Amino acid sequence: MDIILIGPPGAGKGTQALAIEQQLGVTHIASGDLFRAAIKQGTPLGLQAQEYMNRGALVPDDLVINMIIERVLRPDCAEGVLFDGFPRTEAQAVALDAALAKHQRQIDSVLFLDVPADILVKRMAGRQICGLCGAIHNIYFFPSKRPGVCDQCGDLLYQRSDDTFETARRRIDVYFTQTRPLIEYYSQQGKLVEVDGLRPIEQVTESMLEALGVLQALERMA
Ligand code: AMP
Repeated sequence: MDIILIGPPGAGKGTQALAIEQQLGVTHIASGDLFRAAIKQGTPLGLQAQEYMNRGALVPDDLVINMIIERVLRPDCAEGVLFDGFPRTEAQAVALDAALAKHQRQIDSVLFLDVPADILVKRMAGRQICGLCGAIHNIYFFPSKRPGVCDQCGDLLYQRSDDTFETARRRIDVYFTQTRPLIEYYSQQGKLVEVDGLRPIEQVTESMLEALGVLQALERMA
């Protein structure tokens, strides 16, 4: 099963991706995580991407497309992929469709996690991520019990360098101009499922699994 998780920055895609990945056993590919890893390793790709990320701009299509297609053709992706943060432009969506088609694959579902723009800035500027287990907290909406310490594993939480108020606003603008049109692209393909991202985390996950037919399959097996 190849699935796309799409939505504005700060909608909760990363949190939901962790839950869906566990339930479905698909490989989670987050373009932002791949760039952050490249930056940490100091690779040429990382150095190029960093400049765009710091400004809240999109990394150029050719760099993103090459990185994702190379990743998707690895053996651990054979059983299916959950794309998170990719595609973000129509050129990326078209390139992904073409690359999958070459291998007799196609996107099965596009989960559109929607959250109103006024909530998104606080979701991003308040976000704190665990450096060890990847759990996500938020100082406004979902604070950790001990400030700066992960509830799940006790490691330290950090803030992404592009999660400032100013960059958050820019990233939301970029989303509406460049990524939001993809909703129409996938809707026309009959693959779009809209999920209200304002509800509690577990309810959002349940709606997504229901939309993918996973809950129904589990019930039949019980
Ligand atoms: P994310 O972790 O998905 O919020 O992405 C963080 C940043 O990485 C974005 O603001 C972009 O600068 C860059 N980025 C991630 N995915 C893409 C993509 N599909 N296309 C272009 N830039 C991307």
